Amino acid sequence: MDVTTCLKKMELVGVLAFATVDSEGAPQIRNISAIHYEKDALYFFTARGKNFCQELLEDGRVQILCYTKYKEMIRLSGRAYAVSDDEQIKWRDKIFEEQPYLANVYLDETREIGIIFCIDQAEIEYFNLGVHPIFRETYLLGNGKITEKGYVITDACIGCGTCQSVCPQQCIDAGTPFVIRQNNCLHCGSCQEHCPINAIERR
Ligand code: SF4
Repeated sequence: MDVTTCLKKMELVGVLAFATVDSEGAPQIRNISAIHYEKDALYFFTARGKNFCQELLEDGRVQILCYTKYKEMIRLSGRAYAVSDDEQIKWRDKIFEEQPYLANVYLDETREIGIIFCIDQAEIEYFNLGVHPIFRETYLLGNGKITEKGYVITDACIGCGTCQSVCPQQCIDAGTPFVIRQNNCLHCGSCQEHCPINAIERR
């Protein structure tokens, strides 16, 4: 799996959930399909009057979620920015060409109420629940930043093996200390809850 494949899967799913943060700090989510994908960026269309647009202009943070029929979750976290005036028409026309239904929504010249945003720096989390053990990996789009998540077993480990026995994915290897295979970890927290000496930390 890689960034390009994740973007391709998002494109195949088509309608994605976009979450933003409003001026009160509350989460706002909606479905968006007016998206064009490049190898290293995605461009999307919305109308300037929508709250979605205002939230993007004021805050910029956006999280996009898709779920495939193969039980793969792909989550992109980044910042969106309005593309330059020179680029607006180019990307808008591209999106309308790829998605003919938009011409029925924004008839003729009314599409000029639209604005094109771009995301070219983001973190992309891939999480596949359709395989055993489960598989997760995180990738960078542009100069995004990876947020470490999950659990890690520290040097305080005494090697008792309790964590192994309660791990639903059997993704902990014996050693000094024991080690969690991060790509196969659910982040369920069972190991941390059961460790008798609190040797497991949340990252
Ligand atoms: Fe296993 Fe859950 Fe601990 Fe991950 S968080 S190592 S899946 S028990």
